[in-house]
Amino acid sequence: MVAPIAAMRTGHFYIDETCIGCGACEHACPGKVDAIYRVEGDFLGRFAIVLEECIDCGFCVPLCPVDCIHDARKEGLVEGSGGYTRIKELQAWARSRN
Ligand code: SF4
Ligand code: SF4
Repeated sequence: MVAPIAAMRTGHFYIDETCIGCGACEHACPGKVDAIYRVEGDFLGRFAIVLEECIDCGFCVPLCPVDCIHDARKEGLVEGSGGYTRIKELQAWARSRN
């Protein structure tokens, strides 16, 4: 049995559209991970999480003043349900960063 390829793993935390762009979460994300980015060109200066880089530590969640960071697993949005596809759509902008 071959072990799953580590590179296929993604995190489960995502930021919804109600982000106010305060930047608090960015400072919580561990330095070597650095999965949170201000969305380039977003009019509201919102942030997003790159799922492929998130390690699911959850440090960013309690720092958000508007509770817009979510754990997909707690919301029933998991792989196989179609929820992950939805999250990846929401966070697609994070991967387009420069
Ligand atoms: S859960 Fe951890 S690794 Fe993922 S975005 Fe938040 S602080 Fe970064
Ligand atoms: S802490 Fe919340 S409101 Fe502030 S930038 Fe991060 S996700 Fe947006």
